[in-house]
Amino acid sequence: MTMKRGFKKVVRTRMLATGESYSVARAKILSSDKVRCVECGQYYTEGDEVDSQYYDSPYDYWKGCHQYCLACWLGVGPKDIARTLKEIEQEETSQS
Ligand SMILES: [Zn+2]
Repeated sequence: MTMKRGFKKVVRTRMLATGESYSVARAKILSSDKVRCVECGQYYTEGDEVDSQYYDSPYDYWKGCHQYCLACWLGVGPKDIARTLKEIEQEETSQS
């Protein structure tokens, strides 16, 4: 399994915070309990997108993976989509 650079940053951040070794920090992130997304409230696992390109720039998900699920970080989360649907409904209502 190839590790993306962005994910390594996540592991290093945890190493600095906890003093764990790289392999321990990595294993704990991959097996971590689900985290609640502050944006949409859905539960996700930080290590879910371990091979994702989104950890790296230009997305830099490594900065937000502790608080946001990937969808919300990219702006396509359930709340973003719901907001868009609501806007469409309001447009339709105002036109009729
Ligand atoms: Zn979310």
